[in-house]
Amino acid sequence: MTCPLCPRRCPVDRARETGFCGAGPLPVVATACVHRREEPPLSGTHGSGAVFFAGCNLRCVFCQNHEISRAVSGEALSPEGLADVFFDLAAQGVHNINLVTPTPHIPTVAAAIRIAKSAGLTLPFVYNTSAYETVEALRTLAGFIDIYLPDLKYRDEDTARRYAQAPGYFEAATAAILEMTRQVGTELVLSGGLLKRGLLIRHLVLPGQRKDALRILDWIAATLPDAAVSLMVQYIPAHRAGEYPELNRRLTTFEYNSVAAHMQTLGLTKGYHQAPAAAVADYIPAFSPPTSDL
Ligand code: SF4
Repeated sequence: MTCPLCPRRCPVDRARETGFCGAGPLPVVATACVHRREEPPLSGTHGSGAVFFAGCNLRCVFCQNHEISRAVSGEALSPEGLADVFFDLAAQGVHNINLVTPTPHIPTVAAAIRIAKSAGLTLPFVYNTSAYETVEALRTLAGFIDIYLPDLKYRDEDTARRYAQAPGYFEAATAAILEMTRQVGTELVLSGGLLKRGLLIRHLVLPGQRKDALRILDWIAATLPDAAVSLMVQYIPAHRAGEYPELNRRLTTFEYNSVAAHMQTLGLTKGYHQAPAAAVADYIPAFSPPTSDL
């Protein structure tokens, strides 16, 4: 058997075995909490209801969540149990349900969303992902996900292999993003300043990888010129970054500002970027307001 969820296509029976990501047949939720540091239309005033899944199919050496992403032990949740997690977050007043690193759990996530929606949950579901997943797996989520939030992380093949052990990352992630676009489009649908539907492509600028960031923006501008982009500045040398001298520092102002300027030059004027010296929470609306506000 082969797991069809991500490009690794591990030769395992997920009902009994684990593959590269370490995820079992049912998801383990490392933590579920109110998250106030997503982009403003996601966090709003009451926060985003983040569900952090244990297990990840990438191995980013600078991962800030490595204790979560590698900790795959814990209570495994059935679709009904996961739907209960969604309702617990909804009861805390969050604006959406934010599924963080859901790729290894797509079948259970889809089943849980179906249960939650059938039981009356009306919050938007956010699919918060590194986009290293298969188109066939994403197709099973059509109609369940309201907001896709892919982090397009690497352009260069050697970089993806070196930092994340992810061969074919860019080709897989861009195909995934095109499928996400097919499902929800690129228009940001907002109500009261809160995102209800659409696609927001993230990119975390890495130290020493300015040209990789420029090429990623080039692809977005050429392929999805109407897409909203969140250009992230909050890199810190976490986890194993100290083993990679070029990654063992914060971004320089020049690195970030030059990438942000390129984004503007390309006409990618929807979305968000951050001031280099600002705290992580200090997102600055980019160059024009969102496209719609119902
Ligand atoms: S989701 Fe996990 S088990 Fe499935 S192919 Fe990817 S890494 Fe392998």
